[in-house]
Amino acid sequence: DRQGLLGPADVRELAGRLGIRPTKTLGQNFVIDANTVRRIVRTAELSPDDVVVEVGPGLGSLTLALLPEARRVVAVEIDPALAAALPATVAAREPELAGRLDVVRDDALRIGGLPGGDEPTALVANLPYNVAVPVVLHLLATLPSLRRALVMVQAEVADRMVASPGGRIYGVPSVKLAWYGTARRAGPVGRGVFWPVPNVDSGLVAFTRGEPPETTATREEVFAVIDAAFAQRRKTLRAALAGWAGSAAGAERALRSADVDPQARGEALDVAAFARVAQYRPGGAL
Ligand code: SAM
Repeated sequence: DRQGLLGPADVRELAGRLGIRPTKTLGQNFVIDANTVRRIVRTAELSPDDVVVEVGPGLGSLTLALLPEARRVVAVEIDPALAAALPATVAAREPELAGRLDVVRDDALRIGGLPGGDEPTALVANLPYNVAVPVVLHLLATLPSLRRALVMVQAEVADRMVASPGGRIYGVPSVKLAWYGTARRAGPVGRGVFWPVPNVDSGLVAFTRGEPPETTATREEVFAVIDAAFAQRRKTLRAALAGWAGSAAGAERALRSADVDPQARGEALDVAAFARVAQYRPGGAL
């Protein structure tokens, strides 16, 4: 392969040589199919100026395909053995591009910024599935320069990330992502492209940052209302938000002042409506 991408034999050989035994807790399923990483990179529509943040580079399957298409790649990996091995893998397979790579050994849920002067513009990642949504939300909150994302996640999670109000799958991930921008499905991925083979199917999600809705409330205040509404998603909002507002009557006032039916359920509200509800102040002043 011209690009030196990893195939099934390469992945096993690398893992064996490094003594990596993939763990479920860290969501370690490595891509062994070069066509899949090419498709991810193509779908990400990178420009040569992009600074890409990749969460969980693992053995480097995706990293190797990202490097030719971006100005820099900052790879954040929690597993010390994988983080330590990545520069040598890249140097062996893409020697001219190795200088574009920064490896950060850290938990992507805890990073507060990235090294180097460059601001990351795009997130491209085959995410660890158990923390996929928290990672995306944390990076969007922490890295304001991040404009776009193309992530591979569990198929059901992809559905939740892109869901519109009204259905059963619409929930916290859908609304919070909608605060930051627009997400859409960008195609399915079968389980056979991974080693070890996971017991779920995957999907690609493409995200573009937009303007958050108009509101006098902070993001934290809006997210608190979203969390409360979906913590008891089968209750009416009047009941579900009683704790948040101090009483059911307070919740009713907050909902009416936001032009929302107190008998509605959280799944009926778009992010703009949650942003209006969050403006409510118990004293009455808005
Ligand atoms: N990108 C590689 C690929 O496509 O083959 C590996 C993807 S694998 C699904 C997820 C990777 O994320 C693993 O390498 C795992 O060690 C790493 N990881 C898990 N939790 C993480 C976290 N909180 N922060 C950073 N990396 C994490």
